[in-house]
Amino acid sequence: MYSGGGVPQPKPPSGSTAESLALVALILQGIFTLASVFLLSILGGISAGFGGFGVTIAAIFLVVIIVGLAFLYAGYKFAYKKIQSGDYAGASTWALILGIIGIFTFLIPGIIWIVTWVKTKDAVNEQASMGGRAYGTPSFGLPSAPAMAGSVPGAPSPPSVPVPFSASTCPRCQRTATWVPQYGRYYCFPCAQYV
Ligand SMILES: [Zn+2]
Repeated sequence: MYSGGGVPQPKPPSGSTAESLALVALILQGIFTLASVFLLSILGGISAGFGGFGVTIAAIFLVVIIVGLAFLYAGYKFAYKKIQSGDYAGASTWALILGIIGIFTFLIPGIIWIVTWVKTKDAVNEQASMGGRAYGTPSFGLPSAPAMAGSVPGAPSPPSVPVPFSASTCPRCQRTATWVPQYGRYYCFPCAQYV
């Protein structure tokens, strides 16, 4: 993700807590799924001698695996990864969904997801007070180039002309980079790297 360069955005304290909590929830979720699979396979083995009951156990077994894996995938992809990338608002919704579903299925990971949800909401507020609101929603349409071209009367340059300042253009993707005053550097959102 972040190859070499520094962290692209200042992390609010609750963001780090949310990240750790999400990781714990994922690990517990994995353990719970494995434990359920293990337990059900033993139950299935015992009940195999009872005929029809063995089929029921096998069906529950399959549901637990599917729900458990879907839960793990959603937790990793939509909550943990979003927290890592600083998208606390996006992760918040998923942490709440996982928390509610989790409490009714795998109790303990569900509770941790609820706490994670609270922490992501704190992180959103901290991010806003740190002036980091713009980082969550990348704005690619910065009007720097057209505005400067329009300010010179009689010399209109076509909009396809690249940004005149090489410092504000990403050398990797040639897109306009965003000025980050806290770091005193330009940041490219598509590349997720400083220029
Ligand atoms: Zn770039």
